Amino acid sequence: MTAQTLDALLSENVSGRAVLVRSDLNVPLDGSTITDDGRVRASLPVIQKLAEAGAKVIVMAHLGRPKGEADPKYSLKPAVDRLRELSGLNVVLADDVTGESAQKLAAELADGDVLILENVRFDARETSKDAGERAALAEEMKALTGENGAYVDDAFGAVHRKHASVFDIAALLPSYQGDLVATEVQVLKKLTENTEHPFVVVLGGSKVSDKLAVIDNLIGKADKLLVGGGMAFTFLKAQGHAVGSSLLEEDQLQTVQGYLDRAATEGTEIVLPTDIVMASKFGADAESEVRASDDLEGGTFGASGLGLDIGPDTTAAFAQEITNAKTVFWNGPMGVFEIEAFAGGTRGVAQALADSAAFSVVGGGDSAAAVRALGFNESNFGHISTGGGASLEYLEGKELPGLTALEGN
Ligand code: ADP
Ligand code: MG
Repeated sequence: MTAQTLDALLSENVSGRAVLVRSDLNVPLDGSTITDDGRVRASLPVIQKLAEAGAKVIVMAHLGRPKGEADPKYSLKPAVDRLRELSGLNVVLADDVTGESAQKLAAELADGDVLILENVRFDARETSKDAGERAALAEEMKALTGENGAYVDDAFGAVHRKHASVFDIAALLPSYQGDLVATEVQVLKKLTENTEHPFVVVLGGSKVSDKLAVIDNLIGKADKLLVGGGMAFTFLKAQGHAVGSSLLEEDQLQTVQGYLDRAATEGTEIVLPTDIVMASKFGADAESEVRASDDLEGGTFGASGLGLDIGPDTTAAFAQEITNAKTVFWNGPMGVFEIEAFAGGTRGVAQALADSAAFSVVGGGDSAAAVRALGFNESNFGHISTGGGASLEYLEGKELPGLTALEGN
C-alpha cells in the first residue's frame, strides 16, 4: 500500500478540522539562539497549506534529547518564535504535550491558527519501548483533535523512530504523508533504485560506528566511497598508518578492515585521504600543518597531533571524483568545519557538489548545516535532506516505522 498524500487531505474540506502535524523542528541551538533554521523553513510549507485551507493546525515536534520530563533547555520556544516570524500566522506554544495547557489551547484554536505542543519528548511515553504506554500518549494526542481529526507526518528526520507522535498516532487517525516526507522518499529512492553511475558516496563526520551499517550496505552498490572526517582515521589505522591523537575507534578496526577487503572484491573503491591537516590541539588558535597520510606523526606535533581536516591534495582528488559522478550522496563533514582553519575540505567537497551536474543528495544534520554555514546557496544542491539518521537508515535498507505506519491506512 502507498501512503496518502497531503493533497488528498487538502482535496477534502479541512476547514474547521483539527489536523495534527508531526514536524521536524529539531534545530541546533546556542543557548536559546537558533544557529541554523533550515528545519523550521522546511516545515513551513505544510503548516501554511493547512492553515490556509482553514484547518486548526496542531504541531508536534521534538528538540534534542530531554530525559522524558520538562526541561526548559529543550523548550521549542526558539523554533516556535522563528516559525511565527517566518509564517506570519497566529502561532501559540503550549506549556505541555497533552496536558491542561495543550487541551485548553486546542479547544480555543480558531480556523487557520497554529498550536504547537511543547517538546513531545517531555513526555517519557513518547519514546517508550512499551507499546501500551506509547498508545496511551497517542490517544491523548488524538483527543486534542476532537471529533474529526487527521494526522500528517511531515517529520522526515523522525521517521526512523518508533515513537508515539510518529508511529502510534498513525493507527488512530486518518493519516497522510506531508510534502517533506514525500519529497525525501522520492529523492532517496533514486539512490537505491535505478541509480545512475558513477555513483559516488562521500562519508565523513566524527564517528565511524554511526555509519557502519550504511557503509556495509553501499559496498557493491556505490562505485566509489570517499572517506574523510574523523572516521577516516580508523580506516587509515586499519591500513597500518599511525594517526597521532586523531579520532580513532579501536574497536571498529576489524570491521573496517573487513570493509576494505570486501570493497576490493565487490567493485567499490574506498578512497582514503592521502594528506591530512594535523593540528597541535583542538581549537581555533591551534597551529597546523599538512602531512602525508603515511607520515602523520612525522611533523612538529608528533604523536600528539590531531587530524582535523583532509588536506588539499585529498580535497582536490575528492572534488575530481564528484565531478566525474552522475549520482552523489554526501553525509558528514570532511573536517571540523566549525573552525575556519579546518573547513577547507568540507568547503572543497561542497563546492564540487555545487558545481556538479550530478544528481546529488546531502544528508546529515551537520553536513546540511555546513553547507549553509559556509555560505553556499542551497539551490545549487540537488537535495538537502532534513533527516540525517533517517536518510542513513533508508540507505541501510532498513524499514522505517514512520513510513510503514502511513502505508497501513
Ligand atoms: P552529520 O550530522 O552530517 O551526519 P556527524 O554528526 O557524523 O555529521 O559529524 C559532524 C561532526 O564531525 C562535526 O561537528 C565536525 O566538527 C566533526 N568532525 C569532522 N571531522 C573531524 C575530525 N577530523 N576530528 C574531529 N571531529 C571531526
Ligand atoms: Mg550530526
